This record gives sequence, structure tokens and C-alpha cells, in this order.
Amino acid sequence: MIVAKSKCVKSSMLKFYEARDSLEARQLIDALAAHRVEATVLGEYLSGAAGELSALSFPWVWLINNADLPVAQSVLDGFLASRGSLPTKGPWVCPSCEAQVDAGFDICWQCGAARK
Ligand SMILES: [Zn+2]
Repeated sequence: MIVAKSKCVKSSMLKFYEARDSLEARQLIDALAAHRVEATVLGEYLSGAAGELSALSFPWVWLINNADLPVAQSVLDGFLASRGSLPTKGPWVCPSCEAQVDAGFDICWQCGAARK
């Protein structure tokens, strides 16, 4: 991906996270702000431009100060986890024999039935 240089990009800024859409980018910025991490969105295109969809227009969240990266990373982890985009795995119950199977297995240890 080619990123055009922009006059508003300061040298201390750090490209942090590629959001799926501008809503996600805004939510992440709000979460960062709650931890006193300044961030901004670059790469957003005007929405509603004659219904055009550009696959190249994903908004990028930038950190204003790259020294905030460690905090920002933990905020991002929490943000993604709370949104449910990280798979939360837990034990499952076999539909065939009702044995409890650890999350790491996709077939039942007892009867070999596949996880539903
Ligand atoms: Zn089973």
C-alpha cells in the first residue's frame, strides 16, 4: 500500500492500526483518548461519494506520539477483545455423548464426534 506523504503527518506520529471502517476508527480513538493517548485518523475518504466503494480507503489510526505505543497496544488489545473480534474459546460439550471437551480440540476426546 502506498501512503501519500502529508504535511500534517508529524515525524513522531506512528501508523498504528488499520480500521475496517471509520466507525471502528472513531471507537478506537475514543478508547485511546480514555487512556490519554492522542490519536487521529488519516486515510478516510469522504463517505457517501456517489456510493463509490474504494477498497483502498481503509482509515488508518495514527498515534500522535509514538512513545504512546505500549499503552496504545494494550488499549487496542482490550478494544478488540471487548468487541468480540478475537475468538473467545472455552470448553464445549459434545453433542453426541455430552462429554466436556477442551477448547483446543475440534473433536470429542471420548467418542470422536466433530464439534458443531
Ligand atoms: Zn462425544
